[in-house]
Amino acid sequence: MQDPFGRNISYLRVSVTDRCDLRCVYCIAEDMTFLPRREVLTIEELDRLCGAFIRMGVRKLRLTGGEPLVRREIMTLIRSLSAHLKTGALSELTLTTNGTQLAKYADGLAAAGIRRVNVSLDSLRPDTFKSITRWGKLENVLDGVMAAKAAGIKVKINAVALKGVNDGEVHDLVDWCGGNGFDLSFIEVMPMGDIGGERRMEQYYPLSELRTELQRRWTLKDTDYRTGGPASYVDCVETGQRIGFITPMTHNFCESCNRVRVTCTGQLFMCLGQEDSGDLRAAIRESEGDARLEAAIAEAISRKPRGHDFILDRRSSNVSVTRHMSVTGG
Ligand code: SAM
Repeated sequence: MQDPFGRNISYLRVSVTDRCDLRCVYCIAEDMTFLPRREVLTIEELDRLCGAFIRMGVRKLRLTGGEPLVRREIMTLIRSLSAHLKTGALSELTLTTNGTQLAKYADGLAAAGIRRVNVSLDSLRPDTFKSITRWGKLENVLDGVMAAKAAGIKVKINAVALKGVNDGEVHDLVDWCGGNGFDLSFIEVMPMGDIGGERRMEQYYPLSELRTELQRRWTLKDTDYRTGGPASYVDCVETGQRIGFITPMTHNFCESCNRVRVTCTGQLFMCLGQEDSGDLRAAIRESEGDARLEAAIAEAISRKPRGHDFILDRRSSNVSVTRHMSVTGG
């Protein structure tokens, strides 16, 4: 699958639900209205959709949300998709999770061939964690992360950098991840979705500043390690772990973009930062065979834009893309 700019599309991220058991302040409004069930793809439809992408050349598949592990029957989908790992069609099946349900699912995930998970965790302090997630319990996430580690799943921690919120614990995060063998990526807050009272510009903590802060205590060595994604990486000499910086606001990473995203309603977004999309749900629901679905995917990929266009506009709105990250999936 090649897009008009010659980029090979081999990485699919699928949001399996818009629902989440947390309400992170930068991501989702507290009183978020979730989609009616009939609009959301069933587990069978999600399986069919992923199967079509895999036939068309997707090699890496990431399930996200909302929170993927609050979706009912999620293990049915994961077990079915893991069959593509066994045939070699997929090289990796993974997920991005907030970790609250990991203690329950870690063993099942490992048995299904999940080798790595990304866990979103912005703070190691119970009070700060609660204030970011509005009602999350840090303890549940830490139990989940440790269960994944015990099950032999490699954990990467993703932390959104928030000025005045978790900027005082960046060293603790490096230390804790280093001690546990977890890679760590920091993410700049992105202007997605209208999240009500929270002021995005006030939360924005440039990772250039964060990196300078880290260098006060740690030796960071540049590496050319890349995943084709938006992160640049350094090796932390003292801990031996990799630290990633995901900087959509300050760097352009679109030239190497190999990914597309599907929402839980079957909308295919060719770029996280643009509004254009393709409707795959109609192709799935109105046709029994997959020819129409594959044609809809190919047509949408032919419209993948060159790059995204996030703008943090100080004068008017704080939002340049109106849908929430919980819709497109992170
Ligand atoms: N519930 C799962 C989780 O917590 O990882 C998957 C979905 S969540 C939307 C995926 C990632 O997007 C999380 O790491 C979250 O912190 C990040 N995220 C959400 N809104 C964001 C924003 N406005 N800017 C940057 N990252 C954001």
